[in-house]
Amino acid sequence: MKRAIIRSGLEALYFSGAHRLMRPFLGGVGAILMLHHVRPARPDGFQPNQLLEITPDFLERVVARLARMNVDFVSLDEVHRRLTARDFGRRFVAFTFDDGYRDNKEFAYPILRRHGIPFCIYVPTSFPDRLGELWWAALEAVIAQNDAIVLEMDGRDCKVDCAGTAAKTGAFRLLYAWLRAMPSDAQMLDAVRELTTRYRVDTAAICDSLCMSWDEIRAIAADPLVTIGAHTVNHVMLAKACDTVARSELKMGCAVLEAALGVMPRHLAYPYGDPTAAGPREFAIAAELGFATAVTTRPGVLFPEHAETLTALPRISINGEFQRGRYVDVLVSGAGTALWNGLRKLRAA
Ligand SMILES: [Zn+2]
Repeated sequence: MKRAIIRSGLEALYFSGAHRLMRPFLGGVGAILMLHHVRPARPDGFQPNQLLEITPDFLERVVARLARMNVDFVSLDEVHRRLTARDFGRRFVAFTFDDGYRDNKEFAYPILRRHGIPFCIYVPTSFPDRLGELWWAALEAVIAQNDAIVLEMDGRDCKVDCAGTAAKTGAFRLLYAWLRAMPSDAQMLDAVRELTTRYRVDTAAICDSLCMSWDEIRAIAADPLVTIGAHTVNHVMLAKACDTVARSELKMGCAVLEAALGVMPRHLAYPYGDPTAAGPREFAIAAELGFATAVTTRPGVLFPEHAETLTALPRISINGEFQRGRYVDVLVSGAGTALWNGLRKLRAA
């Protein structure tokens, strides 16, 4: 529903040319783009995680579009420098990729390298350690492979219909919302493990096939265009964790990256990054731990005021639901996220 409203809103903004009129007010000084998978389109009808992927062809079009808009492509170190030095002579864009997927190396890296564009990959260290549980991909596999699933939901045995694309999509939405609303990561992962055990989905194999190994990360990190950022150890919803766990996830995520790559990460992305997963306590801990920047998934472009909230920066999601070049214009103009935010200029904090 929200997606449909945003999509029609984006269309309306585009066709009315309103984003161009609003640009001086909403355009900000730059933007941090958020991407996940970059890989060729799959034919399957059931693709509930599609918002987490774009095609290599679309990435090419995004790059071409931004180049035509005459923005500077910058690293996160440079985003930090421009915000703190108040160097806003030219608009800038930074590319960031969450989770360390292998397709970033296979499909996104060659495109960005060819254009000389710097980018950051945020790696949860349990993924290359092969202990990561990509529960959203595991849930997709359970639903894709079965016509019905039985599970205990809130103390009751439930049977969820998964026959056909529409039912699978409905089942995924229902279970995803139910899982994300759980009070802790531990409870959420327990519930997913029950499903993957019962329906024989190999979570470790999913991690292995989707995520880069340490060798692959080391190879890509050797390129000066590439920054490796922190993304905790276990990809946890930090705001739901106790103080001790939240701190240790942030500290250990850095320590493991430093041990593996020889460089202490200066930049952080909060897993999930929405208000249920990262809030004022996390922003404060990240600042205390010395991160130069930390990004959320709250939608928005950057304003000079973000120099005061460097560990609570918004991003613009370049996602598979809006794979049309013209949407990119609207989104990076700031008008798209203003639409999302009810036409208010919101700070991520
Ligand atoms: Zn993530």
